[in-house]
Amino acid sequence: MYFRRVGLASRPDLRESRETGGAGRMPVTDGVVEVAVPRPLRRVFDYAVPTGEPVPPVGARVRVPFGRTEVVGVVAGDRPGSKHRLKTITEVIDPNGFLPPDLVELAVWLSRYYHHPVGEVFGTMLPAVARRGEAARLRPSRCWLAQPEGTVDRAPRQAAALSALRAFGGPVAATVVRPLGIDRRALAALVRKGLVAEVEERPEYRVRTSPFDLNDEQRRAVEVIADAAGDAGTVVLEGVTGSGKTEVYMRAIAEVVARGGQALVLVPEIGLTPQTLARFRERFGGAAPLHSAEPDAVRFDTWLRCANGQHKVLVGTRSAIFAPFSDLRLIVVDEEHDSSFKQQEGLRYSARDVAVKRGRILGVPVVLGSATPALQTLDNAARGRYGRALLTRRAGQATLPRYRVLDVRGQRLRDGLSDRLVGVLDQHLRAGNQALVFVNRRGFAPTCLCTSCGWQARCDSCDARLTLHETPPGLRCHHCGRRYRLPDTCPSCAAPSLIGLGTGTQRLESALGAQFPDVPLYRFDRDTTRGPARFDAQFELLRRGGPAILVGTQMLAKGHHLPAVTVVAVIDADSGFLSADFRAPERTAQLIVQVAGRAGRAERPGEVWIQTYDPANANLRALVEEGYRGFAETETAHRREAGLPPFAAMAVLRAESAHVGACEAVLERARAVLREALRAGAGRWDVLGPAPAPMARRSGRLRFQCLVLASRRPALHAALARLEQAEIQASNVRWSIDVDPYDTF
Ligand code: ADP
Ligand code: ZN
Ligand code: ZN
Repeated sequence: MYFRRVGLASRPDLRESRETGGAGRMPVTDGVVEVAVPRPLRRVFDYAVPTGEPVPPVGARVRVPFGRTEVVGVVAGDRPGSKHRLKTITEVIDPNGFLPPDLVELAVWLSRYYHHPVGEVFGTMLPAVARRGEAARLRPSRCWLAQPEGTVDRAPRQAAALSALRAFGGPVAATVVRPLGIDRRALAALVRKGLVAEVEERPEYRVRTSPFDLNDEQRRAVEVIADAAGDAGTVVLEGVTGSGKTEVYMRAIAEVVARGGQALVLVPEIGLTPQTLARFRERFGGAAPLHSAEPDAVRFDTWLRCANGQHKVLVGTRSAIFAPFSDLRLIVVDEEHDSSFKQQEGLRYSARDVAVKRGRILGVPVVLGSATPALQTLDNAARGRYGRALLTRRAGQATLPRYRVLDVRGQRLRDGLSDRLVGVLDQHLRAGNQALVFVNRRGFAPTCLCTSCGWQARCDSCDARLTLHETPPGLRCHHCGRRYRLPDTCPSCAAPSLIGLGTGTQRLESALGAQFPDVPLYRFDRDTTRGPARFDAQFELLRRGGPAILVGTQMLAKGHHLPAVTVVAVIDADSGFLSADFRAPERTAQLIVQVAGRAGRAERPGEVWIQTYDPANANLRALVEEGYRGFAETETAHRREAGLPPFAAMAVLRAESAHVGACEAVLERARAVLREALRAGAGRWDVLGPAPAPMARRSGRLRFQCLVLASRRPALHAALARLEQAEIQASNVRWSIDVDPYDTF
């Protein structure tokens, strides 16, 4: 086999794939194409087109011999050249094209920006079924429609399915059955009983008018987005929770749909609940979901229906940014600050940043909406790279909650709660309102400790303490998932003196349950919440009002409006504001503001109480006195001084190995390459490490990392490109590059 070892940085031919070929076009060469294969190799390979056959278009999938096997690759470019000594394509899977040109261009950009093997970039983009080479053929789409009359007895699942179908109020597509929490077996039984009909349906997109007029700020925001459509710009829509951002998105989408175009809405992982989807469907007659919990065949089907223009509105999580469209005219990223938009393994892309790039490639506007925009995003707006629209008031009459700092120095906390806080909760509950108690730790206690000898329960395969769980009882590693039995006595000194130290959601649940035995209590964390349907059902109960306590993790920070909540308690803000990770204060402030945003709707204003041992903390002060904006200014000034993003470009090199010393050796070589490259460039820079990762051992493997900072982004990318070419690899080490890392600690 013949291949050229060239970095993509020097590949103008790849970059121009948009001009040289496209779906459906048959460029004439003498039959050599470049194929990206699904292997961790930082290059493309030349293959010969079978004699007498048309050249497959760029973006088509092909089956090609590779090593001793055959793989499915993607045609990334074509070029004149000799077929001499080249291997020949075995099968052209998509003779009429598959990935549209904008996605091929995006893939090439991704491989360069994230310094990731191009074949694996295509692998990340495609649904698994497509990756395996399944033909891009659409099956007729089945829908289910409940008959208006009839009931089921003694079959609770069927009854639940039937009422869910009826509540939906129209044919339910296969893709929505699961998000609605409908049991498939129950559905089949209902079809047999004739209570549900199977119909074939194509969504009929039409725009329904909104039930209310926009307020001035919303109208202005819609105008800014319309202006951005003119020059394909990015707009930051900064609006407090409940200020009507979704309504603004829907107006902008309505413009697009009315003209027959398509719109893509990205939402955080947890955001894609039936509620969200129903809202879009109601307005546009249809909206297709796309998220990782769906079976892959369904995802592929949705993909193809976006590609052929059938779906006009796609609402999806992170990977939906890679869906193909025939006529995409608007991209919305809702809650753009959310960490779930950053993929944490493989191709470590940020769906938000990719959205901005894709918008540029396609020449369409991108809207980044949030109540708490990322500091990076605010900086882009401040520099004039992004347009900006503000929604400062809540739509309707609701007022924003007030912040109160609760200084707990010198006080004894019981199960993480101060007496004062319990008193405040009591007041609100007595008045018939709901209280939300937030702590970002699941389990009972984050540490299990022996009070006689100081022994701590630790994971055998990670460098981490075990979390004590009460229900079901035991010790668990939150990093590798291992479970351990809870010993009756200390394994080290045999004393019966093991205690849980610190406060998790389960501890709060039992403490508050004992404190307020007559008040219904709901816990929300990853251990209690299986599936969005159940999640939604509980929120539905809470929206009906009446006193209740909600205890939970960041799950409570997202998406749901809780009109009866009048008090929010933040148990431990300090661990976030004082963490060593440079992004921790930003994350903490966003969480607090988002949780606070759930509270106080309509006639009942809310209060947010924050317990702290560090009441003078500058970030905390700024947040409670001036809101998220004030916090953002304080923290941005700090980042500027420290030379951290957004005032520098950052990457982390991570290495992992079962062998002692192997990671350090690879990272030392990497550092040498990087230093040499950075020294040749301009601007300030730094390479820190190799140092043990914050968790130096995880699942039995040793982990090290290097941090790379450069005041000029091009210098960083040039150095990383050099690193891609360098021979630093060792067979017993897995290493990766993370550009714009989310977690550095
Ligand atoms: P956000 O997305 O910013 O949290 P939403 O768009 O969900 O806010 O709006 C919050 C609530 O206010 C929704 O119930 C919505 O229907 C309502 N709403 C939005 N805009 C208006 C408006 N102009 N007049 C009255 N109610 C509105
Ligand atoms: Zn002990
Ligand atoms: Zn572990």
